[in-house]
Amino acid sequence: MSKIAFIGLGNMGAPMASNLARAGHALAVHDLVPASVARLAEAGARAAASAHDAVAGADIVITMLPASRHVEGLYLGDDLLAHIDTRALVIECSTIAPESARKVAAAAQARGIAMLDAPVSGGTAGAAAGTLTFIVGGEADALARARPVLEQMGKNIFHAGPAGAGQVAKICNNMLLGVLMAGTAEALALGVANGLDPKVLSDIVAKSSGRNWATELYNPWPGVMEHAPASKGYAGGFGSDLMLKDLGLAGEAAQATRSSIPLGALARNLYAMHGAAGHGGLDFSSILKLYKPD
Ligand code: NAD
Repeated sequence: MSKIAFIGLGNMGAPMASNLARAGHALAVHDLVPASVARLAEAGARAAASAHDAVAGADIVITMLPASRHVEGLYLGDDLLAHIDTRALVIECSTIAPESARKVAAAAQARGIAMLDAPVSGGTAGAAAGTLTFIVGGEADALARARPVLEQMGKNIFHAGPAGAGQVAKICNNMLLGVLMAGTAEALALGVANGLDPKVLSDIVAKSSGRNWATELYNPWPGVMEHAPASKGYAGGFGSDLMLKDLGLAGEAAQATRSSIPLGALARNLYAMHGAAGHGGLDFSSILKLYKPD
């Protein structure tokens, strides 16, 4: 069993850390929200007073933060790297700009610390069930060291390439997810406006050529799937503002390589409109509200 520091106990980090606590690791946890730390402490983790305190003596450091600025702020701004043992392995799971991932990994390497970018896919349900997909960038030997711990939080582990490659793959996946969710909401709203029952239409699509992750596991129409965020007032899940961030990252990656992403750009604009309407804190499936106002 390892000594693991886990920093960032939000919608994803909390269930991931819970799985590691259940697996018997000595876990030290930290988040800016004291109530999130208290919940993990009840599950047996040590409540660290700060990020610096959490990483003291850790073999493995895992972070699950919102965006690039939080990751760079913590590792570089707050100089967390200086407090991490050089024999430790850092697994950074947030979805951030590949540039940021490379910058922090290079700073870690300069101190002799191995670091992986390991963003995840699978949503909060996958985090709770321990069935996440990890999309990893970094050295193969660091991934070999990380694998036993990743397997306690996830089912599929992919090595995308060197540092930053995990983020590139994750951004491509989430651009497609944003397009699919907006398209699914649009199709359901069209069917309902033309007299169909949303559940009947969803069942049909789920067994037809329009099926996708949203229609199978994460239907945006309230009441169609009991456990989906749409049926819980779009609470929890994957925030619309986080999807907007990921579509922005796709835009930056496209800009850097002169790639065309017309559907990704459209999806980014839809999520920007949705956020401007005050829905940025709701789960990203609430994009349905653009098509079906309350
Ligand atoms: P979240 O906003 O629910 O949680 C982030 C947590 O980080 C919060 O609890 C916040 O207090 C904490 N935090 C921020 N700065 C901190 C700091 N300096 N020190 C300690 N704690 C700090 O976000 P989430 O939904 O858990 O997502 C986390 C990351 O995973 C994001 O990059 C997101 O894009 C990605 N992601 C989310 C999902 C999902 O379904 N929610 C799925 C895949 C990937």
